[in-house]
Amino acid sequence: MTQTSKNIAIIGSGLVGSLLAIYLKKRGHAVTVFDRRPDIRTIEFSGRSINLAMSNRGWRALREVGLEDSIKEIAIPLEKRAMHVNEKPVYFQKYGKDGEAIWSISRGILNRKMIDLAEESGAKFKFNEKVWDIDLPEAKLFTGETEKSEWKEYQYDLIFGCDGAFSRVRHKMQRRSRFDYSQSFINVGYKELTIPPNADGSHKLEKNSFHIWPRGKFMLIAMPNIDGSFTCTLFLPFEGPVSFESITNTKEAQEFFKTYFPNVRKEIENLAKDFFKNPTSAMVTMKCYPWTYWNKVALVGDSAHAIVPFYGQGMNAGFEDIFVLNGLIGQYGDDWETIFSEYQKQRKPNADAIAELSYRNFVEMSSKTADQKFLLQKKIEKWFSNKHPDKWIPVYSRVTFSDKPYAEALAIGDMQEKIMKEVMQLPDIAEKWDSEEVEKKILALLDN
Ligand code: FAD
Repeated sequence: MTQTSKNIAIIGSGLVGSLLAIYLKKRGHAVTVFDRRPDIRTIEFSGRSINLAMSNRGWRALREVGLEDSIKEIAIPLEKRAMHVNEKPVYFQKYGKDGEAIWSISRGILNRKMIDLAEESGAKFKFNEKVWDIDLPEAKLFTGETEKSEWKEYQYDLIFGCDGAFSRVRHKMQRRSRFDYSQSFINVGYKELTIPPNADGSHKLEKNSFHIWPRGKFMLIAMPNIDGSFTCTLFLPFEGPVSFESITNTKEAQEFFKTYFPNVRKEIENLAKDFFKNPTSAMVTMKCYPWTYWNKVALVGDSAHAIVPFYGQGMNAGFEDIFVLNGLIGQYGDDWETIFSEYQKQRKPNADAIAELSYRNFVEMSSKTADQKFLLQKKIEKWFSNKHPDKWIPVYSRVTFSDKPYAEALAIGDMQEKIMKEVMQLPDIAEKWDSEEVEKKILALLDN
C-alpha cells in the first residue's frame, strides 16, 4: 500500500535510527535524524570499539532494503565457539548446521556505514543537537545546549524515539497515566579490552570463532575485527572477592589475567593497560509499555526494550522492530494509528521474551557452567538434537538462526526444559545418558 509523504523526525542516529531512516526514505517520506552526539564519522576511533554479533533477524532487516551484501563486507562470520576452559586444550563447538554463523561487526564501523547509506538515500542529519522535550500530541520536539538554555522548536507529522536505553522520548511518555516502566541492573559490569593484530596484520586467535573463557561468576569473550585485532569483553561482578572493585592497580590486573586466563598470557601487558584506561559499564534490562502515542510518536530499538547482551540480540531485535513496522506500513498505508497499535502489540511479547532469554543466559553463564548436572543435561540435549534435528531445535538456534518469534522460542524452550527435568530424574542417568531408553523417553514426552 502506498503512503502519503510525511515529515518525520527520528531521535537518535544509532544503528536503529539510521536503519529506520533508510526504510522511511524508501517509503517516500522526508526524514530528519537528530543526535546529541557529534557525527560518528568525524570521530577518530581505531575501529576496535565494541563489536556485535549480527544474526538472522538483523540480516533479514538489512536484506529487505538491499544492504546485506555491503554490510557483510565489513563483518566476519563466526561458525563456532572456541571454549578456553582452564587446564584443557581449546575446543570448538559449532553454532548450528553447516553454513550457519553469527557475524562479528564493529558497532562504530557499522554505524558510520549506516549513516552514509541513510544520507545517500536522502535523510538529513542534525548532529550535536540534543532533544530535551517532546510535545506528544503535537509531535513537536525541542532541542538546545542545556536543559536551561534557549530551545529550538521543530514541528513534525511523526516522531520516532530511537534514542537508546535512557531515551528522552520515553521519559516524556513515562509521565503519562498507565505507562508501565521498569528497569533493573545486574550486579556484573563489563569492560572492553583489545588484543592487537600480529605484526603481519593477521589475527592472534582463531579468526572465525567466538572465543569464550567461562570462569563461573565471570568470563572473558573475544570477537575478531577486520583489522586483525580482537575486541575482548570482560564481564565481572562490580563487588566481591574477584571483582572490578578488588582489582585496584596494574599489578593486580596482571595477576588476575595470569591466574584466570593463562592462555592470553602474551597479551597481558595490553589487557592490563586497557583495564585502567577503559571504562567499566553497567548492563540494564528496561521494559515499558505502551511504545507509541496515538499516530504521532513511537519508540523503536533500545528505547522500547533494553536487554542484557548475553544472547547477542539487542541490535537484532531493534532491526526486527523496523522489519515488522515496515510490514505493517505495507499493510495499512496511511493508517498510522493502526500501524503503531499493531506494531506494539506484535513486538511487546517478543521483546519481553528476548529480555527473559538474555537474562537466563546471564544466570546460566554465571552460575551453571561448572554444575555437572547442568552440563550433563546440555550434553543429552545436544545428543538428542543431533539424532532428531526435526524434533529438537535448540532454543539458541531458534533465536539466532530463525525468523520465528522470540516468544515462540521461549515457550518451546520452557517445554524442552520440562522434558529434561523428567529425563534428569531417571536413575543412573549419568551412565545411560545416550541410551535407547533415554531416547525413547524423550520421544514419548515430546509426543505428550
Ligand atoms: P543506541 O545505540 O543507544 O543509540 C541511541 C542514539 O540516540 C545515540 O546515538 C545517542 O547519542 C542518541 N540520543 C540519545 N538521547 C538523545 C537525545 N536526547 N537527543 C538526541 N539524540 C539522543 N546487540 C546485538 O544484536 N548483538 C550483540 O552481540 C550485542 N552485543 C552487545 C554487547 C554489549 C556489551 C552491549 C552493551 C550491547 C550489545 N548489543 C548487542 C546491543 C546493541 O548494542 C544495542 O541493542 C543497539 O546498539 C541499540 O541501538 P539503538 O540505535 O536502539 O540505541
